Amino acid sequence: MERLIIIGSGPAGLTAAIYAARANLEPVVFAGYQYGGQLMFTTEVENYPGFPNGILGPELMESFRAQAERFGAKIENVDVTKVDFTQRPFSVWTGDDRLEADTVIVATGASARWLGIPGEEHLRGRGVSTCATCDGAFFKERHIVVVGGGDSAMEEALFLTRFGSKVTVIHRRETLRASKIMADRAMSHPKIDFIWNTAVAEAKGEFQLESLVLENLITGERTNFAADALFIAIGHDPNTAIFQGQLDLDEMGYVKSTDGVRTNVPGVFVAGDVYDIRYKQAITAAGLGCRASLEAERYLEELDAERAAGGLTPAGV
Ligand code: NAP
Repeated sequence: MERLIIIGSGPAGLTAAIYAARANLEPVVFAGYQYGGQLMFTTEVENYPGFPNGILGPELMESFRAQAERFGAKIENVDVTKVDFTQRPFSVWTGDDRLEADTVIVATGASARWLGIPGEEHLRGRGVSTCATCDGAFFKERHIVVVGGGDSAMEEALFLTRFGSKVTVIHRRETLRASKIMADRAMSHPKIDFIWNTAVAEAKGEFQLESLVLENLITGERTNFAADALFIAIGHDPNTAIFQGQLDLDEMGYVKSTDGVRTNVPGVFVAGDVYDIRYKQAITAAGLGCRASLEAERYLEELDAERAAGGLTPAGV
C-alpha cells in the first residue's frame, strides 16, 4: 500500500515526485517505457530558467529524475495499463501487477500529433519540430514552414515571424479551422503566405531539413519545396485512454479540473499537459506538478487525521 503513485515522468510528474519525496511520501513513479515526456524528443532547451547556456532536453529530464531519486522516489519505467479510482484505496495496474495507493497524481501528458511521413522521424530536432516556442529561435532569417489550419498553426506561424525571413503555412484544405481573429492576423501578416489544398508528403535532408515534397491534394501533383524548418501544428492528443470512465474528461479527452490540480475524484490530482491545453511548456508543467504534490500532501494529512479519528476518508469527501 503506497501513499502516492505518480503516473507520468515528464516535468510535471517528476517535479511532483521531487516535492513528494522531500516530504517523505516515498512516491512510486510509473514513468512509462518511453519515460521523460516530450522533452526527450527535443534537442536544445533554451527557455528553461536556470540554464543560461541552454540544456539538451533528455539531459534536463535525466536531471529531474536524478533529483527525485536522490530524495527517495521509486521510479519504474513501466506503463500503467489500468486504474480503478472508484474504490479506496485506489488501484493502479502495470500489466498483471496491482498497486494500491491513498493518492494518485495523473501526469501522463499530451502527445503532439505527427504527420507520419518519410523523413519526419529522422529529421526530428534537425529542422522538424512540433514546438515553435522551443525551437523557433534556431531558424533566424530562414524559410520556415508550418503545417496545420487551426489556432495552434496560426499562433505558431505568427510567433515564428519573429525569427524566419518568411513563414509558409501549408494546409490540407482551402479554409482554415482557426478562429477568425487568429486567421485574420496570420493572413494579413506580411511575412506569412499560405499554400492551400496541399499535404507535406516527405521531409528531405541528410543531417538537417533541406526540402519538402508537397502534394497538391486536388491535382495529385508532387513538387519539391525548399525549406529550413518544418513546424507541425496539427493538434495534440492527451494521454488519457486509461482514465476513460475513471475521471471526468473534456470532449477532447483532457482531464477536467476546476482549479488545475483537483480532478472530480478526491485524492486523485492532475498535473501538466494532460490538463493544460493552453501553455504546454516544461516550466508550466513543472509548476503544476509542484501544486499537485503539495495538494496530495495536504490530502494525506487530512486522511491521516480522519483515520486516527476512526473515519476512512478526509472530511467532506
Ligand atoms: P485543431 O483545432 O484540431 O486543428 C488542427 C489542424 O490541423 C486542422 O486545421 C486540421 O485540418 C489539421 N490537421 C489535423 N491532422 C492533420 C494531418 N494529418 N495532416 C495535415 N493537417 C492536419 O488543433 P489546434 O490548432 O492545436 O487547437 C486545439 C484547440 O486549442 C482548439 O480548440 C483551438 O481553438 C485551441 N487553441 C486556441 C489558441 C488561441 O486561442 N490562441 C491557440 C492554440 C489552440 P482540418 O482543418 O482539415 O481538420
